[in-house]
Amino acid sequence: MFRQLEDAGLTDIHIGLDAATGMRAIVAIHSTARGPAIGGCRFLQYANEQEAMTDVIRLARGMSYKAALADLPHGGGKAVLLRPDRPFDRKALMQAFGRFVDTLGGRYITAVDSGSEVSDMDIIAQETRWVSCTSRSGDPSPYTAIGVLSGIQAFVKVGLGRQSLSGLRVALQGLGHVGMDLAQKLHAAGAQLVVSDLEQPHLDTAVRDFNAEVVEPDAIYAVDCDLFCPCGLGAILNENTIPRLRCKIVAGSANNQLAREEDGERLRERGILYAPDYIINSGGLIQVAMQHAGAPDGAIIDKIVGMGATLERLLEDALRLNLPIEKLADRLAEQRLHARHASQHHAA
Ligand code: NAD
Repeated sequence: MFRQLEDAGLTDIHIGLDAATGMRAIVAIHSTARGPAIGGCRFLQYANEQEAMTDVIRLARGMSYKAALADLPHGGGKAVLLRPDRPFDRKALMQAFGRFVDTLGGRYITAVDSGSEVSDMDIIAQETRWVSCTSRSGDPSPYTAIGVLSGIQAFVKVGLGRQSLSGLRVALQGLGHVGMDLAQKLHAAGAQLVVSDLEQPHLDTAVRDFNAEVVEPDAIYAVDCDLFCPCGLGAILNENTIPRLRCKIVAGSANNQLAREEDGERLRERGILYAPDYIINSGGLIQVAMQHAGAPDGAIIDKIVGMGATLERLLEDALRLNLPIEKLADRLAEQRLHARHASQHHAA
């Protein structure tokens, strides 16, 4: 187990058990060098304990990088709450998880992730203050959309040499919480939209309100456009779709857009500029973290818009050095994490 932690660069793992409710949870902390670890709680069924452990360890490091690149005073962590395979009392389970998180004394702040919901966070908040994404914090999606728009503006400026989005042709996949808000913003900025979704009412709204053109779900990859904006599913950039793309830039909110690491290189070989998802979609995390710390809305929005400047610098460097932008982003995150480690050691 220690070997697994060392390989993933983690500092600590906490295991919680409450026999009365059946609560079994693992919290993995990658780093607290920049501040308390923050990251969602997955509430899923796992085939066995090892699978749960592997999942939580794998995800914690990504959260540290995401928080560091968003320049938040947080490290990365993640929790898995194992979903019982027999009937259970959800409220009692969440309360027990809240008490477990509270024992960590603020080293880890939990949030919504696959399988957990805002209503669960409200219950957890009855037991601990180290929880975000409650119904009091509101929906982070509009903040994510603000960040994606700012990232798109950065890429259009550096990559296409254009100061405005007016006339930009955008293929937008997924008109959900983030995608619809973003469609509205892109339309207001003068972009032309081609959209796909599985839900007809979403398409109808985009046609009516944003004058969008609709294509079948699979046809979105082959749309001749300036920008492909994935806001639906993960793993949509892969060996099958990348050869079909007819865009200059890929920039959207979806998590885990690259099916495999080498797909970043595949995009680069085709001369397509890619905005790493874990940076461009960090507006939601910024809102959740700053809202938890009591920051006013204006400061949160300034911080999110500021992430566009980070993307602008990273893209300029990537083009100048002819290196994959993901590599430079990882390097910047590591520098920020190590700088804080080093300053802590000097202070000690
Ligand atoms: P959502 O579930 O509200 O919207 C997803 C939309 O994609 C839905 O309208 C769905 O019908 C559509 N869709 C699903 N499969 C599709 C397909 N094959 N082709 C076209 N459309 C399809 O989700 P969301 O909250 O808007 O998030 C969108 C993406 O952004 C997700 O990958 C999510 O993980 C990521 N993300 C969201 C946030 C946030 O604040 N909500 C933050 C960071 C990342």
